Amino acid sequence: MNARILVVEDEPDIQELIRYHLDQAGYHVETASDGNAALHALRRRRPSLLVLDLMLPDRSGTEICREIRADPDLKDLPVIMVTARSDEVDRLLGFELGADDYVAKPFSPRELTLRVRSVLRRSSAGPEAADTPEVLQHDSLTLDTARHRCQVADRKVELTAKEFQLLRMLMSRPGRVMSRERLLDEVWGPDVTVTLRTIDTHMKRLREKLGDAGALIHTIRGVGYRFTE
Ligand code: CA
Repeated sequence: MNARILVVEDEPDIQELIRYHLDQAGYHVETASDGNAALHALRRRRPSLLVLDLMLPDRSGTEICREIRADPDLKDLPVIMVTARSDEVDRLLGFELGADDYVAKPFSPRELTLRVRSVLRRSSAGPEAADTPEVLQHDSLTLDTARHRCQVADRKVELTAKEFQLLRMLMSRPGRVMSRERLLDEVWGPDVTVTLRTIDTHMKRLREKLGDAGALIHTIRGVGYRFTE
């Protein structure tokens, strides 16, 4: 069965561009041009994934995303936000709205298709923590979560518990942007008063320890970090 994707975009050219490329990629695509039509379509039949433009004529994408997360039948629906406003990205991926990923306008159709595929793969894999394999590997970097060991080629890398957890979070979701808020919450827990700068400091040290393999972690300015896909 092909995944069904609902594309919500009010600009006809962009809607058609997205529809065409996702269709070519083998997805079954439905479209909506405003927020009310989108919510109506979502409640009639739940798609596998939602591509949601932030700026819509009637209701904002953020409002729709919030409604989805509050709806018991839709709260786990994977959402990719499309935005021209880079200052919004923090909030989109944060806890308030909880989008699974985003693409920034202007985007290439290929980029969107890759994001769709990657979000669908993650969502069909079930709860994130449960299916993290014990040994994560990329090129020369190996992270053995059961033995709590990190290695770059033959070199053993000594990581602190926090550095280890940060690396595990990133490596287990390759290609996905992890916001600093999310990393903070998952690694330090919600009750601790740690600033976002703490994440950057830890990430800097982690990269230094990894040496060449540190380049596998990309900084997404103003948002967070992403491990190479
Ligand atoms: Ca728009």
